[in-house]
Amino acid sequence: MGLPAKFDVAVVGAGPAGASAAYTLARKGFKVVVLERGRAPGSKNLFGGRVYSRPLERIFEGFRNEAPIERWVKREILSFMTEDGMVSVEYTSNGSTSFTAYLSKLSAWMASKAESAGAVIVTDVRVDDVLMENGRAVGIVSGGDRLYADVVVIAEGVNRLLCEKMNIVTPLSPEDVALGVKHVIRLGTDKINERFGLDSDEGLAWFLVGKATDYMPGGAFLYTNSATVSLGIVVFLSHAVREVKRHVYDVLEDLRASLPFVRLLEGGSLVEYGAHLTPEAGLRMVPRKLYGDGFLIAGDAAGLLINLGYTVRGVDMAAFSGYLAAEAVEEAHSLGGYTSQNLSCYERKLNDSFIMKEMKRHSMVQKLMVKGHVFELYPHVLVGAAKRLFEFEETSPKLLEAVNDSLKGRCSRLRVLLDVVTLMRGP
Ligand SMILES: Cc1cc2nc3c(=O)[nH]c(=O)nc-3n(C[C@H](O)[C@H](O)[C@H](O)COP(=O)(O)OP(=O)(O)OC[C@H]3O[C@@H](n4cnc5c(N)ncnc54)[C@H](O)[C@@H]3O)c2cc1C
Repeated sequence: MGLPAKFDVAVVGAGPAGASAAYTLARKGFKVVVLERGRAPGSKNLFGGRVYSRPLERIFEGFRNEAPIERWVKREILSFMTEDGMVSVEYTSNGSTSFTAYLSKLSAWMASKAESAGAVIVTDVRVDDVLMENGRAVGIVSGGDRLYADVVVIAEGVNRLLCEKMNIVTPLSPEDVALGVKHVIRLGTDKINERFGLDSDEGLAWFLVGKATDYMPGGAFLYTNSATVSLGIVVFLSHAVREVKRHVYDVLEDLRASLPFVRLLEGGSLVEYGAHLTPEAGLRMVPRKLYGDGFLIAGDAAGLLINLGYTVRGVDMAAFSGYLAAEAVEEAHSLGGYTSQNLSCYERKLNDSFIMKEMKRHSMVQKLMVKGHVFELYPHVLVGAAKRLFEFEETSPKLLEAVNDSLKGRCSRLRVLLDVVTLMRGP
């Protein structure tokens, strides 16, 4: 690899978690190397499109002014879709707590910040193994080359093959992850503003459930960037492989060709197409221990992501876990070395941070979502009720009558009550 034979810290992966860890560590004066298998930082990174900014602002100096932000999200839509229609909840605001972005550009920017702070970024290098000696991590192995480091930060993303080799996690099962496929469609700034009712600096985040994914558990999304739109679907892999009669790519094509998207995206050209896995199992996917002698695990590799059904938080959690991993390395260093015991402060830092608090607080959402019926039942109930309310001839129903009529034959009120109770219950 032509590098110094020894670093203080080796970071595997230049995604949000790895780049944040490297940036923070380099600024603290550690000699850091980041190993990324992609041709450039960001080249392997794909996501939906919206990032919550506050954690990133805490990590990166000058974030708001320098980061490749496409638009600040000012308009949110959550839609329940069936063949018969769509019921949407819309929220508009002047807030600026989240923005749309390309993850490839954002990761590349984070890595460039780490590099400016002094980290060495090595691309086109796949780490094959974490190098272990006497039960402790002492570096990495890549293509037969060894690179030594006092501590290794594993930020390899959702596939977590290194963690699997180290027997920290079991192989991924379809129940653990969702498959996302995404189109980036160039429409031009003016058309986006006109068709989605936005000003140039305003973004839209749109989440859809129901017919949008052929009723498969998961959801569809549309985010507006400056001159393009990101349209995609995320489907729980267990359902995608077992129950689906059609390929998920075809489901996305159908969504694009359906109303209202066919009109909103008319004349757009496909400029990017991609697919990626994402953690979906909530706390169940978090390894029992995220640290050991000489290593720490951050980001998707650690299962740190929440899907709330109307929004996804992965990038901010990954980045902040990388930042906390860097703080843990510093603390362990001051305690005299990178033993498992000294690095255990990482767990405390994660538990004290918004990351684990949010994962625990919202764990029931995940439990409700794995009961696949919600993605078919509630879109039909809501659209059915709306149809009763708005499409009458002479006698208009009362609101509750419309809901009751729509529930009839679909499910009992007890079923709805049980779902609400699941959602309201604490972790
Ligand atoms: C379809 C989809 C939609 C999503 N939507 C959103 C969203 O809207 N908002 C949001 O916040 N989050 C979203 N997420 C989640 C978000 O993308 C992730 O949580 C986040 O990217 C995790 O960052 P990470 O650094 O842990 O992993 P990654 O971004 O996956 O980065 C891991 C890096 O490690 C590298 N790597 C892996 N193995 C090796 C190896 N052996 N050697 C060297 N390099 C290696 C990879 O090439 C990659 O660059 C979405 C995810 C998907 C798939």
